Amino acid sequence: MADWKGCAARNYKIGRPGQFQPEAVVIHIMDGTLSGTDSWFNDTRAKVSAHYGVGKAGQVHQYVKEADTAFHAGSADRPRWPLLKPRVNPNFYTIGIEHEGLAGEPWPWPLPQLQASAKLVREIMDRWGIPVVPERIVPHHLIRAGKTCPGVNFNRAAYLTALTTAIAPAVTLAPLASAFDVTVIDPTTTRSWPQSESAPVAVKTKGQTVRVAQIADGETLMGNANWYGVGPNEFIWAGATSRPRLS
Ligand SMILES: [Zn+2]
Repeated sequence: MADWKGCAARNYKIGRPGQFQPEAVVIHIMDGTLSGTDSWFNDTRAKVSAHYGVGKAGQVHQYVKEADTAFHAGSADRPRWPLLKPRVNPNFYTIGIEHEGLAGEPWPWPLPQLQASAKLVREIMDRWGIPVVPERIVPHHLIRAGKTCPGVNFNRAAYLTALTTAIAPAVTLAPLASAFDVTVIDPTTTRSWPQSESAPVAVKTKGQTVRVAQIADGETLMGNANWYGVGPNEFIWAGATSRPRLS
C-alpha cells in the first residue's frame, strides 16, 4: 500500500488527454533521497512529478493518481523505445516510478527496494491490463537519450527477473544447450510467466510450430509442470504441445 504524499497542482495535470490511458511504466532514479523527492514534487517550482517513489528500504510513496498525468518522461530525444508514439507526449500514456538513489550507484539496488518496485509495477500492469513484456517497462533513457536515468548500472534484465519472480518465486528456469521445435496440438495462449494466471502474450493455433529456447518448472496443470520458454517473457504450457514432457 502506497503512502500518499501528494504533489503541487502545477507539477501534474488532472486526468489524461483524450483516450489515453497507461500502457507502459517508466523507471527513473531520483538522483537523491525519498524525502527530498517528497518535498520537491510538492514545491511549485519543480514543474516535474512522478506517480510513485520507491525508497531504499522498500517504502512506496505516491504523489499523483495513476489516472492523472505526471510530468516524468518529458519530451523524447533520440528515443530507442519501440512503442513510443510519434508526436505524443509520453507522459500521456505512461506511469512514472522514481527510485531513491544516485544515477552512478552500483547495481543491484537494495533487495527491499527492488522487490517493492517489482511488486508495484506488477500491480500497476495488472490494474491497467498492460502485458508483462519488456517493451512495457521502460528505462527513462530509452525515451530521452541525454539522460542516464535510471542509472548507468541499471540492469533491465535483472529488473525484469525480479518483476516476474515477484509473482512466482517457486518457478525455476533453465536455458537449453540447443533449441528444439514443438507443434501446438491444442490452441493455447502463451503467458508472460509459466503460470496460467500471468499476463497473456499471444495466441498459438493448432498445428503452429514454436521454437523452445528455455524450459521452466512452472505451474502444474493436469499433473504436468513443464513449460517452454518460446520468446522473451513468453511461455507455453508443454501439455499443449507435441512434446508434453521432456523425457
Ligand atoms: Zn528519469
